[in-house]
Amino acid sequence: MIKARTARCVCYAFLIIGVLAVDSSFAELKVSTDFSAGSAVIVKQDTEKLFLHIQPAVQKDRGFPCWWYFKVSGLTTGEMLTLKVSANPQSFRGNRVLSASWSMPDRAAISTDNRNWRQTSSGLREKNTITYQIKVSAETIWLAWGPPYLPADADAVLRLAKEKLPTAEVFELAQTRQGRSVKGVRFGAKPSEQHKPYGVWIQARQHAWEAGGSWVGQGFLQWAVSDEPSAVEFRKLANIYYIPIMDVDSVAVGAGGKDAVPRDHNRDWDEHPHYPEVAAAQKRIRQMEREQRFDVFIDLHNPGPNDRRPYFYGPHGMDKLPVIQQRNYTRWIAYAHNHIEQSNEKYRFATYVTTDEERNRMSANWVRNHTSSHVMSVTLETSWNRPEGTQKGYQTVGRQLGLSLLRYLESQPRLADDN
Ligand SMILES: [Zn+2]
Repeated sequence: MIKARTARCVCYAFLIIGVLAVDSSFAELKVSTDFSAGSAVIVKQDTEKLFLHIQPAVQKDRGFPCWWYFKVSGLTTGEMLTLKVSANPQSFRGNRVLSASWSMPDRAAISTDNRNWRQTSSGLREKNTITYQIKVSAETIWLAWGPPYLPADADAVLRLAKEKLPTAEVFELAQTRQGRSVKGVRFGAKPSEQHKPYGVWIQARQHAWEAGGSWVGQGFLQWAVSDEPSAVEFRKLANIYYIPIMDVDSVAVGAGGKDAVPRDHNRDWDEHPHYPEVAAAQKRIRQMEREQRFDVFIDLHNPGPNDRRPYFYGPHGMDKLPVIQQRNYTRWIAYAHNHIEQSNEKYRFATYVTTDEERNRMSANWVRNHTSSHVMSVTLETSWNRPEGTQKGYQTVGRQLGLSLLRYLESQPRLADDN
C-alpha cells in the first residue's frame, strides 16, 4: 500500500506554518541519468505517492540491458520511497529481449553521496517486477543495480596504487574505438634476462554491466600494493598487470556490453580483434610469453542472478591438457577454495558456447591457446545477488584472490613434477 505524500504534508504544513499551500510543501521528484554510466527509463513517476517505476535503458546493439543507475532528488528525509523495477521489453540485439531476472537484484544499491553504497532491504518480487521500499535519508539519493564502478574510480585506484608503490607504472593500454583511455598498472618484481618473475595478468569488465568485477579487482590491487607481508612476498615473486575496466566505452555510457554487436570483448580474442584494448592486451601477453615469463591470466566477471557463490570457469577438455597444466588447474582451485570464502565449486566449463570457433575467441581460452603448457588461465565469476555483493564484500574476494595467487605461485607452477 503506497501512502499519499499529500496527507502527511498537510499536517506538516499546518503544524509548522499553518497557512502553507499543500502543493508547495514538497518538491517535485526529479530523476536524472545524465552522468557517467547513468541508465534508466522512467515508466511511471508519482510525486505525491513517492513512487517510481523504472527500467534499465536499452542501447540497441550495445549489450545486455540490465544495468540501471540514476539520481533522485526532491526527497525529504524520513519518507518512504517505493521503487519498482522491471526489465526493459525492447530488444537489445536483433529480436532478443533480456530476461527480467538480470535487472532485478534481491537488494538494490543506494547512496547519499554517489560514492559510498549500501544495500536496500530485500525487494518484493511479483512476476517480472521487483519493488523496493526505501527509507529516504537525504534530499538527493542515488540508486543502482549494484555499486557502480566508473572510469573515474579506475583512475583513482591506479593513482592510489602509484602513490603507495612509487615503482608501479600506470600506463595506457589503448584508446577505445570511441577515443576513451583504457588504463592499467604494472608492478612487482622487475624482469630481466637472468630473472623472470611470474607474469600475472588480471583484468575486469570485459562485460560493462558487471561492476562487481572491478570492485573485486580493486580489492586485489589494494592488497597487492600494500605493506602486508603476504603482499610484499607476492610482489617479490611476480610481475603483475592489472586492468580495472576493459570496456570503458560501454561502462561510460551505461551500456551492458555483454552480447554487444558485432561481438563483446570476451568473444573478441582472435587474430583480428574489433576492440583496440583487446588487441593491446593480446600484444602484451604475447610479449611476456615470448620472454618466457607468462604464468597466470584471470578475467573478472559477475555471473547470473541465481549463482550465489563465487566460482571459476576452467578449460573445456581439461583431461586433454598437458599433465603440468592439469596439475596447475587442480592446485589453483584448491588454493582458491582455501582462501575465497564460499567458493567450493569445481570448475565450470563454457558448455553453453556451441562452436570451437567461438570458444577459442573467449579471452581465457585464447590465452591458454597462445601460451606455454604450464599457464593457468581462468575466469572468476563473483556472485552479485547476495548480501556480500557490496563494495566491501567484493573487495574481500579480491584480497582473497591475491592470497590464493601467492600460494599458487609459491608452489612453483613452472616446474614439472619430475624436476
Ligand atoms: Zn561476464
